[in-house]
Formats: sequence, structure tokens, C-alpha cells
Amino acid sequence: MRTILHIDMDAFFAGVEELRHPELRGKPLVVGGNGDPNTRGVVSTANYAARKFGIHSAMPLKEAYRRCPSCVFLPVDYAEYSRISKEMMEVLREFGCTIEEVGIDEAFMDITDSPLGTPEEIGRKLKERIKEKAGLTASVGIAPNKLVAKIASDLEKPDGLTIIPEDKVQWRLAPLRADRVWGVGEVTYARLLKMGIKTLGDLAEADEGKLAAEFGENWGRSLKERARGIDDSELVTEWEPRSLSRETTFEKDTAKMLEIKKEFEWMSEDLEHRLKKRNFLARTVTVKLRYSDFTTLTRAKTMERPTAEREPIMRAGLGLLHKFPWERPVRLVGLRVSNLVAAEQAQSPPPDAALF
Ligand SMILES: [Mg+2]
Repeated sequence: MRTILHIDMDAFFAGVEELRHPELRGKPLVVGGNGDPNTRGVVSTANYAARKFGIHSAMPLKEAYRRCPSCVFLPVDYAEYSRISKEMMEVLREFGCTIEEVGIDEAFMDITDSPLGTPEEIGRKLKERIKEKAGLTASVGIAPNKLVAKIASDLEKPDGLTIIPEDKVQWRLAPLRADRVWGVGEVTYARLLKMGIKTLGDLAEADEGKLAAEFGENWGRSLKERARGIDDSELVTEWEPRSLSRETTFEKDTAKMLEIKKEFEWMSEDLEHRLKKRNFLARTVTVKLRYSDFTTLTRAKTMERPTAEREPIMRAGLGLLHKFPWERPVRLVGLRVSNLVAAEQAQSPPPDAALF
């Protein structure tokens, strides 16, 4: 039995814009095209205040303007959204689970048997961390498979956490519109409606012969299975970290090695935890310093033996500090481990050793 989590940021583009324009928070806001409602663009995201006017994604900007002339219209800024998206995915990786990134603002996580807590605890923690790091809310759905997890994350938007255990799947799905499952778009839904099938419950109970006649045998059967919440598709990508890092910005720029050393203590401890959680050893340690004038320098050292222990990581970091120029105060320090290898692989003895 699997436990799959789906996370979906709430009105993502609009959320990011509200972050950088706090004065717009709570006001109806539409992000789309070049931000000019007189042009041919469409709505990418409308915030929840704008949705109250019936504005939704893919609606022409002109129509959105007609419905809500007092709405604020902003252009799409992918660079900024992908920057925040990276932060969000970074948070997901902290949990050490297999991840499938679905799009800029959603992902699946396989939390089956995760030692981090119950599914509900993990869901809450994840939402909290994203709020902390990106300042945005997300909705989480947890279910026995991807299909139902995705439906679940949508049920209590925004800021939702919806858990659908195996024995409640059919019951939760039955009253929903049949186009809530993936693969049922406008066209298929219209055809279903003609057959008198409105809800997923209707579809789950529908006559197999009639479905086959309308959609062909395979697609008909597949539709029925989806309506029952059956899905055994795997997560598509397995995430493997290429590096892990921590950095910190000092409240006041510092020229004191002692202060930096203190930071390295918690950073190397943190890196040790994360390496061990994922069962990796690191070969390379990198130190990054950003000076008061914002120039940034890095120095790296590859260790003789790969390690997951804090001591050698910290020692390597401290050794590297001497390779930096010290004529300017430092505003940020970072510690990174990279060149990661799987722990089992690194620890297994060389073939010859078996002879002794
Ligand atoms: Mg979203």
C-alpha cells in the first residue's frame, strides 16, 4: 500500500505577485499575457478575490476586464515564478522522499512508510515549511495513489490539507463531477453528460458495454477505473541530490573567523543529518563567501574519503577559509557538500578484500 502526496501552490503566479506587491493583497488580481487587458492574452492565474467575479485561467484578458474593470492586471514574470518554484522544490527535497515535479507549482511525493511522521504530520510540516521559505500557501492531498492525491489537493483549496484513505476513496469521489479525474476534458465530459453520466459515482457504476460502445473498450474501462480511484502509475522521476548546502546571511557584516566557524558548526551538523537521511556520502566540500560589496567567491576541496560525518566536513570548510582574501567583511557564508555517492556503494569493500 502506497501513500502519495500531491502538493499544489494556491493561485501561484498571483501569490508571488502579492508577495512583492503587498499593497495588492486581497484585492482582485489577474496575471496574464503582457498585463494589458486590451490585448489578446489570456488569464494565467487569477487570485481568489478575482475568481469571485467568475474569472478563471485561460479566459481572455478582455473578458476578465469586462467582468472586473477594477481588477489589477499584471504581466506574467516567469523568471520570478521559477525562482520561487525552485525554492518550493527545494523544500520538498528536505523531506528525502521520491519526488515527481509536475509543473512549475505542483509535485507528487511518495511518503509511503516515511519515518518523518504520519501522512497528516508530513502534510502539515510541508505546508508550514513552504509558508516559511516562500511565504505562500499550498494545498496538499494525500491518498493511496497519484490520481486520488491530485483530486484531493483540489478539494479544500486554498491552504487545504485533504487526506483520503483507501477505504474512503469511492465515497469521496462519487459526488464529484466526472471531469475531476485526469483525462476527462471538456469533450469527454460532454459525451458523458449525453449518456446521463454526471458524477464520478455515475461513471463508476456505468454500464461497461455502453462505455465501450461510446469510447472503445480500453478507454471505456480506463474511465471506469479512474472513477473508482484506481491508479497504479509510478512517480515519474526519482530525485537524487547532486549537492546539499546551507548558507546564512549575517545580521552585521563580519570579518571574524570565529563567527563563521560558529556557523559551520550547525551547518555541518545539518549536512550530516541530510546526508545520512538520504544515505549519501559526500566527496567535495565547498565554502562560499559573499563580501560586503556583494562579490562572491567559492573555494572547494575534495576529500580523500567520502563522508557523511560533520567533523571532516567542518574541518574541510575551516581549512578552506584560509584560501579566501580577508580584506573585506563578509555578509554571507555558505557550506556545500557535493559529488555525492550512495553510502552502500562507497562502503562496500573493493573486490579483492573478499579474499582475506
Ligand atoms: Mg496551482
